[in-house]
Amino acid sequence: MYLMNTYSRFSATFVYGKGSWIYDEKGNAYLDFTSGIAVNVLGHSHPRLVEAIKDQAEKLIHCSNLFWNRPQMELAELLSKNTFGGNVFFANTGTEANEAAIKIARKYGKKKSEKKYKILSAHNSFHGRTLGSLTATGQPKYQKPFEPLVPGFEYFEFNNVEDLRRKMSEDVCAVFLEPIQGESGIVPATKDFLEGARKLCDEYDALLVFDEVQCGMGRTGKLFAYQRYGVVPDVLTTAKGLGGGVPIGAVIVNERADVLEPGDHGTTFGGNPLACRAGVTVIKELTKEGFLEEVEEKGNYLMKKLQEMKEEFDLVADVRGMGLMIGIQFREEVNNREIATKCFENKLLVVPAGNNTIRLLPPLTVEYGEIDLAVETLKKVLREI
Ligand code: PMP
Repeated sequence: MYLMNTYSRFSATFVYGKGSWIYDEKGNAYLDFTSGIAVNVLGHSHPRLVEAIKDQAEKLIHCSNLFWNRPQMELAELLSKNTFGGNVFFANTGTEANEAAIKIARKYGKKKSEKKYKILSAHNSFHGRTLGSLTATGQPKYQKPFEPLVPGFEYFEFNNVEDLRRKMSEDVCAVFLEPIQGESGIVPATKDFLEGARKLCDEYDALLVFDEVQCGMGRTGKLFAYQRYGVVPDVLTTAKGLGGGVPIGAVIVNERADVLEPGDHGTTFGGNPLACRAGVTVIKELTKEGFLEEVEEKGNYLMKKLQEMKEEFDLVADVRGMGLMIGIQFREEVNNREIATKCFENKLLVVPAGNNTIRLLPPLTVEYGEIDLAVETLKKVLREI
């Protein structure tokens, strides 16, 4: 094995997927409630996504940002028109989208004052693994081995407006947050908190940046989670589900935050025609009439079943989430990794997260019968434990 030891993996090698199902080398079928960690929003091998990628590959896979390409322009327009009407920069991953947002925030601040460079982010947040995003990630366990981090960052308590207010000053150029914290165990922001953050950013002339890398792209039953809250950021980052499995990330900025100029930022692959064509196809599917409403209905259906499961099993401490982004937190007697492993043995894939939680992130195309099967499997696992 020639791979670096960077992941603790479950013991399956996957070769094929269709819809909500993924198959290993031995032909075992697994019900995939991870969607590649919120990536395969249309399920595996969605026919229109496969067709679009094939067609684009035959036409043009890559041309650099020295030139224009149509899929990039088309995807930017779709993102803009389906959000708050701003301009778009394309990256390749979530962490890169956030790095771009960090640079946007710094440049925004610099234009006002030399001292306006401080970035605030939440404790227990997750924004990525590159040094800027890692510094924004308010979790020492990810940061410690790589110190010193990027200077100028400070952390506030999520869902605590008073704490955010204490940390705010004229030196703050941006506040970063996930409307629903994903990695730390699916913790939705309160509406009051997002409204408070919006007000404070306006008061101190700082950018409000929403990282929707995990909670965006239809997961909550709206294209982006902020649309569920009615609180609009200045900068929005997205990735994961945007390409339906093809790597892509994006930053959307409103007019005020549109500060980057030629030479300020760039990436070789960002906005390449293949990834953008995948993105165009995904957004067109998600915005088809009734699609997102159905995500919300399926989410409510799953949530109701899980709440019933919680009543039945003492081991379940809490069930939280929105749409098809749901966390199940367990009591201290059991370990989430152990539960995820038992689910895996029972051919159900789930994602362990912080807070002794497992995450359910099924494809947005999941069927009701598959939701029933997943809940039955979870109950079987809990009974065995
Ligand atoms: N932001 C959030 C909210 C995330 O959940 C993640 C990935 N889990 C990232 C950023 C980083 O994305 P990527 O792994 O594509 O760099």
